Amino acid sequence: MSPTDPHSLLGLSPGAGEREIKHAFRRLAMRWHPDRNADPAAIEHFKRLRAAYEDLLAGYSRCPAPAAAPHDAQAADTRPEPPPEAPPRGADRREDLVLSLEEAFAGGEKAFTIADEIPCDACGGSGEEVLRHTRLCATCHGSGRVRDGRSLTACADCGGRGYLNRQACAACHGSGQARAARKLRVRIPAGVLDGDELRVAGAGEDCDRAGGKPGDLLLRVVLAPHALYRLDGRDLMLTRPVSAFRMLLGGELPIPLPDGVRNLKLEPGPATTRELRVKGAGFPGRGGARAGALIVRLVPVLPEAPDAEILALLERAETRLQNTLSRHLPDVASWEERWLPDIPETR
Ligand SMILES: [Zn+2]
Ligand SMILES: [Zn+2]
Repeated sequence: MSPTDPHSLLGLSPGAGEREIKHAFRRLAMRWHPDRNADPAAIEHFKRLRAAYEDLLAGYSRCPAPAAAPHDAQAADTRPEPPPEAPPRGADRREDLVLSLEEAFAGGEKAFTIADEIPCDACGGSGEEVLRHTRLCATCHGSGRVRDGRSLTACADCGGRGYLNRQACAACHGSGQARAARKLRVRIPAGVLDGDELRVAGAGEDCDRAGGKPGDLLLRVVLAPHALYRLDGRDLMLTRPVSAFRMLLGGELPIPLPDGVRNLKLEPGPATTRELRVKGAGFPGRGGARAGALIVRLVPVLPEAPDAEILALLERAETRLQNTLSRHLPDVASWEERWLPDIPETR
């Protein structure tokens, strides 16, 4: 155990209980509190003790204590045998995991990093560095006192000493904490959706208690927005421009899916915006939920500046249309019949 280990600092064995921790700190605080101890090293040591104390107590509040055995005899008589003690566990930790739609669609293994707060290397977690030369306190200009209304009180920045022999650690800006990246991998089931939770057992917070296990890491899936796809539940939707002629003709239409291209059969039909729906071809089903549909919104497009060859072909098609007007364009036929009677042409 290192000498900066909280248990060693407080003279406790690793399994010490909450009461022992409080008792040990109170005893040491009597000895090392700067008000009681004139030794210049006392401040520093007292800070370390307090940090260790807070650390241990925080561990207590994070790790739920195992079910307490009844203390009084009366309770012991009436209560059934307490269940075997569950080992203490660290807290669960929650993080977001951003996935592309393709990753969520296909599933698989994903590597990611999370940042841990660890004690700063430069200052050992104290947040302070010891100055080589003492420095006059800038707040009280060395007097150790500052004016507070009409009276003078001890300067809080230097503890009333008028000089400083330590300053905020430059590496951690006084926080005492540094960030360390931890690489992890998680298995992603195919078809996870926004807001789903994935659990990485044992990758949560450490438990400070003896024999304790770390908590779990809970990853909330966040699906990144996609330039092509939109999800409605498990229905996968996309919009595709199509040649208006192809919509009239029907045929095969390649559609990009998150895991590859799929050719869909397009029935001949009107060249107006319409939907192509394929049941079960959307987002994969998961945990009892069925796979969604693939919904392709087809938007007809006509050439803006067709070349001579296309114009010639269109001219032929148009001639054929005019010759079979009541079959192919009944609206035009009835309109012309009503509004273009057999009047000789004016010109
Ligand atoms: Zn001062
Ligand atoms: Zn530091």
